[in-house]
Amino acid sequence: MKSLRRGLGTQSPTSPFREEYMETISLYIHIPLCVKKCAYCDFASFSGRMAQRDCYVQAVCREIRAQAAFFGRRRVATVFFGGGTPTLLSGAQITEMMRVVRECFDVLPDAEITMEGNPGTLDMENLRAYRAAGVNRLSLGVQSMDDKLLAAIGRIHTAKEAEDAVAMARKAGFENINLDLMYGLPGQNAIQWKETLQKAIGLAPEHLSCYSLILEEGTPLYDSVNAGECAPLPDEETMESMDALTLELTAAAGYSQYEVSNYAKPDRQCRHNIVYWECLPYLGVGLGAHSDMDRRRFYNPAEWESYLQMTGNDAAQRKGEGSCSQQERMFERMMMGLRQTRGVDAARFERDFGCTIESVWPETIAQMTRKKLMTSNKERILLTPRGMQVMNGVLVSLMEEAEKQGIYEKTLIDSKPQTDD
Ligand code: SF4
Repeated sequence: MKSLRRGLGTQSPTSPFREEYMETISLYIHIPLCVKKCAYCDFASFSGRMAQRDCYVQAVCREIRAQAAFFGRRRVATVFFGGGTPTLLSGAQITEMMRVVRECFDVLPDAEITMEGNPGTLDMENLRAYRAAGVNRLSLGVQSMDDKLLAAIGRIHTAKEAEDAVAMARKAGFENINLDLMYGLPGQNAIQWKETLQKAIGLAPEHLSCYSLILEEGTPLYDSVNAGECAPLPDEETMESMDALTLELTAAAGYSQYEVSNYAKPDRQCRHNIVYWECLPYLGVGLGAHSDMDRRRFYNPAEWESYLQMTGNDAAQRKGEGSCSQQERMFERMMMGLRQTRGVDAARFERDFGCTIESVWPETIAQMTRKKLMTSNKERILLTPRGMQVMNGVLVSLMEEAEKQGIYEKTLIDSKPQTDD
């Protein structure tokens, strides 16, 4: 659901991401449970598996132990329970997983520990238990503050439940809350998006993620839009108005855009997601989770039985494994880094790959700089606000130049993150 297309770019905000995190890993834990599949969702998640929650939690714990035995006792800077709907797990289940994480890894004292949640599934007792287990950031999938639109996309909650969820989370002690919002929904107009934004901002979250809906083939929403059974998606002009509103309203409320779809109050950027955008190491455990550790890429089976079977046998054995070529990593570094308003770390690029960004893409960098779409400071190469608007075009130019030079043959890059709530 996350899109590359949107965002205008602002000044790079200060980042809570510190140099020392380069020496650490991030841990992603996938919880593939949902009450019911949303109409637009193609994520690895299942409804009707609640009875198997315990069994799944035990499988994840086995995998954490096996991965730690394989990779050693690493220092962990961020933990992210993504889904699916992690808030379908009880406080005791999250506590057990965190206990195993701490038993196997050195979790930094100031680690960011996030849990995604669906507003229709929160419970005060569980929230307090998550907090006591060390979870210090809650990311709520609110998507819209319009009940009709929520129903149209198959969400299980109402706008009022989203408001109540934020109030409940605050009461349970969460001081760092993200709200995920989605725009470009069938039949949605700019006024409706403005109302959603205003209501969400009114809840005073520390962080907002605003994604435009991407219709994924094979989802019920894709079929109904194409069959004309529901309202059409907003046109390009409406989407542009929605983009402008997003920037205007978030900025006016004190949020800085630090990534194409993400906005944060000072020092409240999501450290876990910055790890992905900076291409730093992460270990993904759970069904379908992807990892990038010690320059090795691997991923777990996305089918329930296969995952349980894997953890029952040799949990370090995965479905897909392979390294990524230097060229692919270079392109990925640019593609992910340019999503951030602060851009790509040029010195680190040179250190890691033994060449400068300008030497790999001389034509594109010169051309984009001439067109004022790209700029640089002494440390980073970044897109200008105008460049952020046409990010896909910039990436295509980078890829074409790499292809022309024969340094880039194919991409393994999937910009879609491994989570949604
Ligand atoms: S969008 Fe989120 S809540 Fe809805 S089915 Fe997919 S993973 Fe579950």
